[in-house]
Amino acid sequence: MLPEIMDFQGILDDINAQIRPLLGTGGRVASYIPALARVSPHQFGIALRTCDGQEAAAGDSATPFSIQSMSKVFTLTLAIRSLGETLWHRIGREPSGSPFNSLVQLETERGIPRNPFINAGAIAVADRLLTQGDAKAEILGLLSSLCGDSIRIDPEVAQSEADTGFRNAALANFMKGFGTLDNDPSHVLDVYFNQCAIAMNCLQVARAAGYLCRDGAHPYDGSPLISETQARRVNALMLTCGTYDAAGEFAFRIGLPCKSGVGGGIMAVVPDRLSLCVWSPALDPTGNSHLGRLALELFVARTGLSVF
Ligand code: GLU
Repeated sequence: MLPEIMDFQGILDDINAQIRPLLGTGGRVASYIPALARVSPHQFGIALRTCDGQEAAAGDSATPFSIQSMSKVFTLTLAIRSLGETLWHRIGREPSGSPFNSLVQLETERGIPRNPFINAGAIAVADRLLTQGDAKAEILGLLSSLCGDSIRIDPEVAQSEADTGFRNAALANFMKGFGTLDNDPSHVLDVYFNQCAIAMNCLQVARAAGYLCRDGAHPYDGSPLISETQARRVNALMLTCGTYDAAGEFAFRIGLPCKSGVGGGIMAVVPDRLSLCVWSPALDPTGNSHLGRLALELFVARTGLSVF
């Protein structure tokens, strides 16, 4: 099918109709952060925005949810933009092959996280942003500008993260011990917990991710946010490291750069074509949205869109 004549609204409506009867039939809502455990699993949303500004949305696409680890793409973008190549002095670019909050690898690799999307890597990115200035304001400012709405942090989720984030505190202190964190771990963790607690809906995320399908250009005003090469690299990291230990399976079944979060969101990029976001809170054993992943498979099967 030619891209120009794809009926994206019809496609998303069909996917929504296929997914809704499955709500509540598989996966489990994240339980290790109390504020997330209270979210109803009976929700599904999907939205996209094309490079020429066409939008489509279906299901619970206007319901705000906790973006969690999807925030790591945007903090990485801010850090790449301000630090360029020096960012990589203290953060790797390889899939970790171990859980997103693992301490073991950080010990053997002497405080250098494998990639910016595991928790240690995102905490290291938050540290760099904190050194540059008011990291929380920067992140909210970027997201608000990218999607055209005022974006906020859910204080209840942020508090819940802080109350239960012992492993993240361990990771931050570990890196401080290795000398790979500049700032006070408690200040860095405050940035990290708050970025994870940002609330957005599917359409806002799909809009905000638009610079990644536009070679780094701002989705609304076209100004360069990051360079074409940098945008390609963010997409490459999403493909190889964006979906926890299921990145291979996502590449195999979906074939798009994706970044998921334990709030049940998954954002995906079709370079030069569109950005999209799916959300359904119940997670599969790999920590990715169970029905979000199925919806992406349906989308790719229906449209034939893939980077391969
Ligand atoms: N706030 C979560 C944590 O640090 C984020 C996890 C995720 O979405 O991958 O455990």
